Order: sequence, then C-alpha cells, then structure tokens
Amino acid sequence: MIRSDIIAAISTPPGKGGVALIRLSGEGAIGLAEKFFSAASKKSIKDYPLRTQIYGYVTDGERTLDDGMLTCFGAGASYTGEETVEITCHGGILITELVLARVLKAGARVAEAGEFTRRAFLNGRLSLSDAESIGLLLEAKSEEQIALAGKDSRDRLSEKILAISKKMTELLGSVYARIDYPDEDLGDYTDGEMLDMLQSIGDELDRLIATYRTGHSIAEGIDTAIIGRPNVGKSSLYNLLCRRDAAIVTDIAGTTRDVLEETVTLGRVTLRLADTAGIREDSTDPVEMIGIERSRLRLGRCELLLAVIDASEGADAELAASASSSTAAKIAIYNKVDKIAGDFSPECPMGFDRAIAVSAVASPEEAREAIRLAVEELFIDGRIEVGADAVISSARQRAELAEAREAISAAAEAIRSGVFADAASSDVEIALGAISRVDGRAVSEAVVDNIFSRFCVGK
Ligand code: GDP
Repeated sequence: MIRSDIIAAISTPPGKGGVALIRLSGEGAIGLAEKFFSAASKKSIKDYPLRTQIYGYVTDGERTLDDGMLTCFGAGASYTGEETVEITCHGGILITELVLARVLKAGARVAEAGEFTRRAFLNGRLSLSDAESIGLLLEAKSEEQIALAGKDSRDRLSEKILAISKKMTELLGSVYARIDYPDEDLGDYTDGEMLDMLQSIGDELDRLIATYRTGHSIAEGIDTAIIGRPNVGKSSLYNLLCRRDAAIVTDIAGTTRDVLEETVTLGRVTLRLADTAGIREDSTDPVEMIGIERSRLRLGRCELLLAVIDASEGADAELAASASSSTAAKIAIYNKVDKIAGDFSPECPMGFDRAIAVSAVASPEEAREAIRLAVEELFIDGRIEVGADAVISSARQRAELAEAREAISAAAEAIRSGVFADAASSDVEIALGAISRVDGRAVSEAVVDNIFSRFCVGK
C-alpha cells in the first residue's frame, strides 16, 4: 500500500560541508514548507513555478534559523514520484539538525532507511533492479561496481528481460489460441516451432544466469574464508589483502581468536573476507574454542576458500579433509616460500582449483597479485563485458531466473510428451511470473522490505 504521509530526512552525509540537503516527500509537502520557509521576495512559495530555486529563510516563529534555497517538485515529477520539497541550507552539523527539527515540528515525520527509494519504487519511478543497483552505487568501492550499477547497465538488463518476456508472451498467445479454438488450427506455431522457441528462451535464460558468478563477485562480493593451521601466515595474508594491520600477527600459535571480517576490493572482484581462527583440534582455551566454532560456521557458507599452507612443511591431511567437505572454490596458498632455498613449484592438492606460491612477508605485493589473478580466473568470466552485456548480480535475481528456466524446461517436456497445450501454457505463465520479478514488477512485500532495509536514511 502506498503511504502518503510526509517524510523528511537529511539526504547529505552527516558532517560539516558547504551545503546540506533536506528532503521532504508526500502529499502536501509544499503546503507544509510554507509553514517554515519564507521567500526573500515575500511572494508565496506556491506562486513560483515548480523546479525553481527560491531563495529565502527557514523560520521558527519570529526567529530565522538559516537562509538557503528551496525547490518544489510536483507529484509525478520527482525522485519519489510524490510532491517533494528540497531545502539546501548551510552544511553545519547543528544547523542542519535544527532545520530538520523545524521541518518535523511543522508536521513531517522522520523517514526510515531507504524510504524515499521505496516510495519511488512503489510509485513506479524505478524498478526493483534499479533500486538494488542504487544501493550498490551508494556502496561502490570500485569502478567496476559503478559500471555494473550504473544506469546503462540497468537499462541493458531491463531490455534483455523485456525481450525474453516478449518471446514468452508470444508463445503463450499461440498456446491460448489452440486451447480456445482447438479445431480451427489457430495456433501460429506447430509443436516443433514451439519447442524451438522454448529452446531459444531457455538458452537466453541460461546465458543470463551464467552472468551471476561474475556479477555477484564484482557487486555483492565473494564470501571468502582463510583457513589453515596456526602460524602458517593466515593473518599476514589477511592483512596484506586488506592493506592494513587488522589482525594481530604473532608467532605464538592460536593468536587469532575470532572471525574478523572485511570487504576488500581485489582487482575486479570484491572479497568478503573472514580471517578465521586457526583450526586447532587440541585447543582447550575457551576463548579460542569459540573462535574455532565460529570459523567452522563461516566455512559452511563460504564461496571461496583460501587454504594457507607453510611451504616448508607441505599440505596436511586435516586441511584436505576440511576442504573436501566444502563446495567452495579452493585455492591452495603455499606461503613462506622465502624459507625455501631454490625453486618451489606448488602442487595443487586434490579437490583444489588452483595452487600458488607466495611469501606474505618477503614479497607482499606479489602475493596479493598472485591471489588476485587466481581469484579472477575462477570467478570472472572473461567473455562477459560488464560495460556492454546484460549482467545480473544479486542472488534474488538468479533465483527468479532459475525458476523461469525450470518452468521453460517443464513446458518443453510437456509438449514433447504430447500433453495437452494447457500444461505447457501454465508452465510458461510461471516462467513469465518469475522473470517479471527479476526487475520487480511483481514481488512480495517481504522481498521489497529486505531490499530497502539496506539503504541509509535520506535515500
Ligand atoms: P597465522 O597464525 O596463520 O595467522 O599466522 P601469522 O600471520 O600470525 O604468522 C605467523 C608467523 O609467521 C609470524 O611470525 C609471521 O611474521 C610469519 N610469517 C608469515 N608469513 C610469512 C612468510 O611469508 N615468510 C616468513 N618467513 N614468515 C612469515
């Protein structure tokens, strides 16, 4: 349901700045602004054309709190799609809060996190994919993330989705015609032609689903765990990936006691990196044991395992066992190669995807580069061009597409087994429903809540 009470928030980041922006949205926002803003010209705000900047004063009774610019937007022509007022005032921390307090006193309420964008979505101003991308844009730490979240990229995905749904609709039209007029041979397509169409829709869905690994690695980030015995150099590698001293590095076994987590941009990918406590079966220290338990839980859901091995000691059976129980991509990192005289060629342990040899201490930059290369090889599909192809990046989008794909296969199966066209049509309807949820034309309230809860207040 569309709520139309007037919400307000400071839309610029907290802190001191040249100017700050306070935004109000909701029916009656312009009327509300008249209570606390007087134009320097003494004219009424409503006498100005919309989208005109009006210079004037934010007042509280007789008192002037600040001077600044006010802009009014009509319903249907603003970010949220609702009547909107934006006030640009001086960007001091206190003054901005005083202006917001004045706006609230006039009758607005504080916006919840993401509420402006949520309203924009509910009013049809942007699709759910757009909203997800805006969330990503606000969080972006790499140019690649910006390219993926940018408007061009969103438009490409929307176009692709639309093209696939159009094919589905066309197919449905033909099936409906057959159901309604079975004797008149009205369906445009023969069984063979329908199967061809389903095949081509299925292929397009597969191609789009296949972009997930790359898109997700760039946008949401790969859930990564660093594992290995105590003292092999996990914390040292963690720190060099984060480029800072986050974890305590000592040469006493068992000093990493908890799961630290950090988002790291490594070349084209983003790693959500956990530095897990060394897995020591013999630990009796209760604090260390809690850390170990957390490591195990984190391991269960990770997508990439960086298994660190002391090159001078070699891989251990315990590591191989813990790695074999995980479906994650696995890179064996032989660390401390500086301790080895002569050449060292890393052997890929069974079940691992890559093996590299590094020295976290002697050549940290080379180590970082070797890890980047291995991760990109495993997670980035070189055939996908983020700036030119339709790419999905959220698990939600992938799940919807997978549902559509499954229904398309079921429809093809129904036709092949000679079932009445009815069955095929209901499968295609399911596929159409799922694909329309990719950019959010039909999604549940819970999904919407989940997406907008990740925004900050004022967006
Ligand atoms: P963790 O217990 O696996 O987290 O290991 P740490 O990162 O705390 O490292 C344990 C010890 O090994 C420290 O004294 C590090 O300085 C040392 N170390 C880490 N990486 C290297 C390396 O590449 N070469 C050498 N020689 N020592 C290293």
